[in-house]
Amino acid sequence: MGLRDYKQLAEQDQSVVWHPYTQMQEYARTEPIIISRGEGPYLYDIRRRRFLDAYGSMWCNVWGHNHPELVKAIQQQAGQLCHASLFSVSHVPAIDFANMLVDAIKQDFRFADEPPTLSHVFYSDNGSTAVEVAMKMALQYQNQKGKISRTQFLTFHEGYHGDTFGAMSASSIEVFRQKFAPSLFNCHHATYPMQVDPDEHESTRHHEMQLEALIAGRNDKIAAVVIEPVIQGASGMRPLAEDYLGKIKKYCREYDILLITDEVFTGFCRTGPLVASSTELVEPDIMCLGKGITGGTLPMAVTVASDRVFEAFKGEWAEMRQFLHGHTYSGNPIACAAAIRNLEMIFEEKLKENVKSRARELNYALRRAIGSSPRVGQIRQRGLAVGIPIKDASGNEDAGYESRDDAMKICEHAIERSRVLLRPLGNVITIVPPLNIESEQIGEIVNAISRGLEALEAGNK
Ligand SMILES: *Cc1c(COP(=O)(O)O)cnc(C)c1O
Repeated sequence: MGLRDYKQLAEQDQSVVWHPYTQMQEYARTEPIIISRGEGPYLYDIRRRRFLDAYGSMWCNVWGHNHPELVKAIQQQAGQLCHASLFSVSHVPAIDFANMLVDAIKQDFRFADEPPTLSHVFYSDNGSTAVEVAMKMALQYQNQKGKISRTQFLTFHEGYHGDTFGAMSASSIEVFRQKFAPSLFNCHHATYPMQVDPDEHESTRHHEMQLEALIAGRNDKIAAVVIEPVIQGASGMRPLAEDYLGKIKKYCREYDILLITDEVFTGFCRTGPLVASSTELVEPDIMCLGKGITGGTLPMAVTVASDRVFEAFKGEWAEMRQFLHGHTYSGNPIACAAAIRNLEMIFEEKLKENVKSRARELNYALRRAIGSSPRVGQIRQRGLAVGIPIKDASGNEDAGYESRDDAMKICEHAIERSRVLLRPLGNVITIVPPLNIESEQIGEIVNAISRGLEALEAGNK
């Protein structure tokens, strides 16, 4: 494709495609990267440049791009059946994937004290909706259990659960919510105690007491707790204190509140295990999964419910206890086919082990390359989810989401000079690579950041 074609496409892109979370006025001044092809961890643009996808196409990529096995599964399914709606019929890919997923989750929880009961898969098509579904499920559950006063949610500071109204209400990243605040419903927010160093244990006792006080004071009002287990993603990769999820579950039990884990980001091995809640064997009542569910190929999400939740929706038609939610493309067969192959490959290729060893490598390499820079805060990581806080010139780390200049400069340098696609969240650089990434690409990512950081430091002198 010639240069003229690029120019024309770029102009059209800037005027007719409205990009998410993008300041289009600023975007109009850039030279957009227009991708035409993907292979392995690399994306190729129409100007024949090759970029390493170090942010996993917004955190959903598991196997790199266009993995032949996933492409084959998609093509085969498309030749058979593109869509049939679960509203009135079923199809084999939806049945097979639900079965496989429930088995795989049970395997993750096989050492739990009580036998796992998450076994009912509700399909939708994006992570926000999976959370929306979970919240509606919890409200309808409480209502049908006769607990009609339980209409509120307890969520956590800095949490992110998506961009639809329920999910936005549950979220607490102020800059995303602020302009819509008057139209959102109130949630109670508790502290999400962060633990950056996995070996450093600080007491979370006071947070726990606050949490219990919050719950106890509204005992008959709260329907469910909604939390991102192990690590909060969108607020800049904030790891949760070890054991804390178990404590939350204890209070949920004690006060008869449902526990919803939002695993849209952490699910499908991002932090190591298939689902992060299983790290401490804390089985929720409802679990939301999205992002990596199709390996990063097609939009799909699920909300998985426990037996107890599922049972509360049974009754005769006239009782209207059926779950009142659905989407046209729920359980799309092509997406299910991709999800099936993705899950099979997770076991065939021993993906969990790859995440573990590459995560260790990445951590070591980052510490060695940039760990001692005065501009780098404490690196936060669980599995292949990494956040690198960039301090401003005066050493301040908590500048907030709006002040992303330095992190952005490093990412721009990495993209332009090293051809590594990175994206900051405020002043935090995030690394969320495909999960089958290899050592060589880990090196590429670390070098790109390191060179970007050097340029930043040199520029500020
Ligand atoms: C990305 C994300 C969502 C929203 O998923 P979308 O598919 O972007 O709607 C919800 N919760 C968490 C934890 C996420 O990281």
